[in-house]
Amino acid sequence: MIEHWTDLAACRSADPELFFPVSTAGPALDQVAEAKQVCASCPVASDCLAWALRAGESAGIWGGTTPDERRYLRLKPLPAAPAWH
Ligand code: SF4
Repeated sequence: MIEHWTDLAACRSADPELFFPVSTAGPALDQVAEAKQVCASCPVASDCLAWALRAGESAGIWGGTTPDERRYLRLKPLPAAPAWH
């Protein structure tokens, strides 16, 4: 039974450290790209991104975005919360 969007997260079986690169530049770009590849196949990426934006999550890859990308997105109106939140 699905109780929360995280139940469907594509990263549930991935190494959590993959989603928290030490940087978003230089050698860490490969790690960022690998994490984003997992997010690209995630059925709840939009829920994840909406949560990260609402929570002001300042670290890690969430919904296929880096912290810098989320800072840019926060300049825009927030996406509406999905019905199951
Ligand atoms: S979008 Fe990425 S970080 Fe978010 S739940 Fe899916 S795989 Fe995990």
